[in-house]
Amino acid sequence: MKDSVKNLMPIPEGYVVLTKETTSRGVKWGSQEDNGYNFRLAEYADGTTALYHVYPDGSIKLDCESVLVQELYCMHCGEPLNPCLDADAGIPDPHEYFCAACGHDYEIVGEDD
Ligand SMILES: [Zn+2]
Repeated sequence: MKDSVKNLMPIPEGYVVLTKETTSRGVKWGSQEDNGYNFRLAEYADGTTALYHVYPDGSIKLDCESVLVQELYCMHCGEPLNPCLDADAGIPDPHEYFCAACGHDYEIVGEDD
């Protein structure tokens, strides 16, 4: 029953949706606040979740390109952490972060792993 959306929720507190943007200088990932996009987190009947993009005309579509990451701060210097990009796929890894200010790496163990 993967197809049946049980619940459409706002993006949870402490999470950010990163959306891929292709610019003349290459690929860049920006938060939904930077882009002015609107997202919902859909919960399926089997307990899995997926991101949906809400368009200005009110339509809602499954978004497979954007990535939900946590909003985290460095335990050493307090600066916001950046998600690491997966070397093969080139997409942000929601479980690995680094601090651009002091260079510390963090691995987040997900609740559902
Ligand atoms: Zn730091």
